Amino acid sequence: MSFSFPGLRFGVTQREYPASSLFYQQFDYRYWVSMKQVHSATCVAVTSEMLAKDKHVLIENVDALVTKEPGVLVSVRTADCLPILIAHESGVIGAVHAGRKGTESGILIETLRCMTEAFGVLDGLKFWFGPAICEGCYQIDRDLDLHYDLVGENKKQIMSVLKLGSYEIIESGLCTAEQPDLFYSYRREGELAGRLQSFIGVL
Ligand SMILES: [Zn+2]
Repeated sequence: MSFSFPGLRFGVTQREYPASSLFYQQFDYRYWVSMKQVHSATCVAVTSEMLAKDKHVLIENVDALVTKEPGVLVSVRTADCLPILIAHESGVIGAVHAGRKGTESGILIETLRCMTEAFGVLDGLKFWFGPAICEGCYQIDRDLDLHYDLVGENKKQIMSVLKLGSYEIIESGLCTAEQPDLFYSYRREGELAGRLQSFIGVL
């Protein structure tokens, strides 16, 4: 697959995976940076100064992380929301939590702005859209039978910022609500649903 270059590690866990810390121990990372997500449009560029002490760094009130630090894994937790991983062959990576609220606030546009500000304009970005609730399953108004297309709306955000042909989108095409054996789903399981972990890093 084209979403890959030397040292790149990425993927998504499935249901019933061991606790996060155990899961991440299998990777030879220097730092694992995760987010306390709040459905915002806030992106943070992870720099070496933020990585001084602990091997696990939790950044609060943020829904996207970008970095160019080697040895750093960044992760996003979801159950129906869309996890987006971003990679560039220069070693720039990103992880985005795109639910409806964050998407409507422009989280992906903000991530691209944050990435450009920190690392310059990037031609050849690759985006991976992970498992999320599909438009058919994501009804947001029962009476009007209105649905929300997380994937489509986030594609529009990429198209509004980047030149056509200068990037690539790889879609998992998987719906969390339709595959209870593989994925957690907030819609299906409610508040107590577990979370999938999507992660990316250049190790
Ligand atoms: Zn579905």
